Amino acid sequence: MANHLYDALFGKHERNSGDFLILPDGERISHADFAEMSAGFAAAFMAAGLRPGDRVALQLAKSPAMLAVIAAAIRCGVVFLPLNPAYTPPEVGYFLRDAGAELVLCDDMGAEALAPVAKAAGVRLMTLSAKGRGDFADLAKGAAPPPVADRAPSDLAALLYTSGTTGRSKGAMMSHDNLLSNARVLVDYWRFTDRDRLLHALPIFHTHGLFVATNVALLAGCPMIFLPKFDLEDIIRAMPDATAMMGVPTFYTRLLGDARLTPGLVRNIRLFVSGSAPLLAETHRQWTERTGHRILERYGMTETNMNTSNPYDGERRAGTVGLPLPGVELKVCDGAGRELSRGETGIIEVRGPNVFQGYWNMPEKTAEELRPDGFFITGDIGVQGDDGYVTIVGRAKDLIISGGFNVYPKEIELALDALPGVLESAVIGVPHPDFGEAVVAVVVPQAGAAPDPADLAAALGAGLARFKQPKHIALRDALPRNTMGKVQKNLLRDEFKPLFGG
Ligand code: AMP
Repeated sequence: MANHLYDALFGKHERNSGDFLILPDGERISHADFAEMSAGFAAAFMAAGLRPGDRVALQLAKSPAMLAVIAAAIRCGVVFLPLNPAYTPPEVGYFLRDAGAELVLCDDMGAEALAPVAKAAGVRLMTLSAKGRGDFADLAKGAAPPPVADRAPSDLAALLYTSGTTGRSKGAMMSHDNLLSNARVLVDYWRFTDRDRLLHALPIFHTHGLFVATNVALLAGCPMIFLPKFDLEDIIRAMPDATAMMGVPTFYTRLLGDARLTPGLVRNIRLFVSGSAPLLAETHRQWTERTGHRILERYGMTETNMNTSNPYDGERRAGTVGLPLPGVELKVCDGAGRELSRGETGIIEVRGPNVFQGYWNMPEKTAEELRPDGFFITGDIGVQGDDGYVTIVGRAKDLIISGGFNVYPKEIELALDALPGVLESAVIGVPHPDFGEAVVAVVVPQAGAAPDPADLAAALGAGLARFKQPKHIALRDALPRNTMGKVQKNLLRDEFKPLFGG
């Protein structure tokens, strides 16, 4: 046996003195220095008594040290759970219990807050700062690093908890091969080489920043300009040194709002990738107009890594998520799992080496979403054209059924966004005594505009069937979004639930 994931991402760089991480203050960490730091953390895992298959929870700030802990976990076969630093102690307590973690790592500040929940869960808590210091780092100071643990391709590498906006967060079991196979496909498909420099401003507790961006850079052997978060000034400063950027749509809209975004600023970039939430066709168009680049939009999720991508050389079609990636089978099905014809709208199912192993300790949830033949029911509603391009229409749980008719929020949102004075919108269904659900639209006006909801309703009335027209249009300064830029429709549904007595 071997440990192919460790070898491909980290092992092969152990003696590489080239840059791996470039930090905002200009500090550079070479692959070899990074390997030394992670070897020390691997010795610490051994000293802490962790064995292959044991779980470690990481509630750490994005830092080279956090990445090095992840490398150490992969080396030792320890299954890691990266957790959003914004999670509260009771939320972390749930993850610790659910995962049956042996160890949780956090910084000094977090330690005080997490101590009671770690104790209650019977989980050892140790500290590790963003600078790589703390009692975890001290555990095996000077000790020889352990040998690389043998791991089968189907062994678990990580438990990635879903965001859980519709119930209990579930631990998606990601195997070594799930991660490695997808990273290999993406490096090839997006043409990454060691001559790239990836601008990295995404969080690393989520699949996008961790398994898409970081693993692609590691596999290709290219440095990352590693920013703690999206900060417009930092991004603009770093952009001229980068050859590629992966971002969520809000990265692009925020950059478009700054006059410094010019072709000169992005002169060394060869690829802009967007995902994790829908990129408006309008943003795609404006980006091309301002920079000359066509953003490459791709689609994936926690449970499946990446499923589809617009092509590198072929047409990057705005408003679509492109074609199934090599090795990924995709079909659009009705509620009963029957495959629909091209052009028909239904639920997207995917199968391939990228698809996860199931939900940790939730066999019934796994059985609901992962079919015996290996197809995963994504819960995304979409349509595939005759030429293979896939368009996402929304999440199945966001589908509105009003008076017995299906209303796809995306259709109404696109119609609203096209009206004068509208920047963006979110359409939800709320309980209604006659219709079951009523369509409600939340609209964000463009800067300086004050559209009248009655005018918007009248304009929509001209083009949309009556059952699709919003029964209420509310204006807001902004839509609630999570860190990955996804609109939190559950919060809007809660807010507007009482509107019709629901
Ligand atoms: P997560 O598991 O947090 O990565 O969320 C995955 C979900 O994000 C998918 O099931 C989609 O609903 C959505 N998503 C990801 N990428 C895109 C995209 N390019 N366009 C539209 N929705 C997307």
